[in-house]
Amino acid sequence: MLCREHNLAAKPIVGRFAPTPSGFLHLGNVFCSLLAWLYAKSNGGKIILRIEDLDPQRCTRQKADQLARDLEWLGLIWDEGAYVSRDSEHYFQSQRSDIYAQYFAQLQEQGLIYPCFCSRAELHAAEAPHLSDGRIVYSGTCRDLTKEEREAKALKRAPAYRLQVEDTPISFTDGHYGQQSFNLAEESGDFIVRRSDGVFAYQLAVTIDDALMGITQVVRGCDLLSSTPMQLYIYRLLGFTPPSFCHIPLLVDATGRRLSKRDGDLEIAALRKIYGSPEPIIGFLAYLAGQIDKPEPLCVSDLLPLFAASKIPQQNIVVPEIKF
Ligand code: GLU
Repeated sequence: MLCREHNLAAKPIVGRFAPTPSGFLHLGNVFCSLLAWLYAKSNGGKIILRIEDLDPQRCTRQKADQLARDLEWLGLIWDEGAYVSRDSEHYFQSQRSDIYAQYFAQLQEQGLIYPCFCSRAELHAAEAPHLSDGRIVYSGTCRDLTKEEREAKALKRAPAYRLQVEDTPISFTDGHYGQQSFNLAEESGDFIVRRSDGVFAYQLAVTIDDALMGITQVVRGCDLLSSTPMQLYIYRLLGFTPPSFCHIPLLVDATGRRLSKRDGDLEIAALRKIYGSPEPIIGFLAYLAGQIDKPEPLCVSDLLPLFAASKIPQQNIVVPEIKF
C-alpha cells in the first residue's frame, strides 16, 4: 500500500486513533481503531490514543474512561497518549484550547479568518448549493462585511469564525483510495474553525494535534476523506508537514447505513457481556477487513503478523448478522 511504502523510506511511523467520546464504543469504531493500530504496528511504528472531547455538550470524561477500558479489554495497547502517558491530560482535546487559540491567532494574523453571523436556518435557506451528502457549501455571505456591519451584528449574535479557502484544487494520494483532488471553494466554501460558543472546530484541532504530536500516518474512516483537503490546507497555512492519509471503508448495515451509536446491540459494552472475551470480536473484524477467510477467534497479537493492508476492501463493508 502506498502509505506503507511512503513511510518505510521516511521517518518512523507514528499513527493515532482519535475517538470522540460522545457515546459508547461500537463495532465501527473498533474496526477503525484495530486497523489504525495494525497499520502502525505492522510497520514497526508506534500508535497514540488521543481523545477528541472538544464538544463539552456531547463528550464526557466518563464516556472517555469507558472507551479506554473497552479498547484495553480488546487488547489494543497504546504506546503513548491518554490513559497511558504520564502527561495523559495533554492527549485530551478539551485540555488543549490554549494551543488551538495560538494557531487560530496565527491564521487571524494572516487575514484569513472572519466572523460569520449566519444562523443554521439562514445557512439552510441560503442559495448555497447543498452537496449530495447534505453538506452545505458556504457561499461567503459574511466574508465581505464592513467593520460597522460586523460590530452591529455582533451586538445580536456571537459569531462563528470561518477560514477563507482558495479556489484551486488540493490533491493528495490516499493510501487506500489513491489519487484525490478537491477544490474547497466548490466542496465546502470557507469553513468553520471556531464555533459561536467558542469551541474550536474539529478541522483546526485535529490538524494542530496531528502536527504537534508528530503523527506521520493518519488511518481513519472514509467518511473523513473530504475533511482531508481542509486539513491539508491548514497544514500549509501553518507551515506544518502533513502526514500520509489512509482512509478505510466503513462498516454498514444491510441497508447501507453506517453503523453508529444508534446500533446499541453492536456496542462493545454489550458484546463484552455476551461473549466474555475479545477474540471472537477481533476475529470477526479481521474477517470483515479481508484478513482471514472465515471468522474465527483471534487475539490482536495473532493478527499482527498476518496483516496485509492490500486485502482491505475498497467498498463499505456490510456487517452480516452477528454470530460470534
Ligand atoms: N474524532 C473523530 C471521530 O471520532 C475522528 C477524527 C480523525 O480520525 O481524524 O470521528
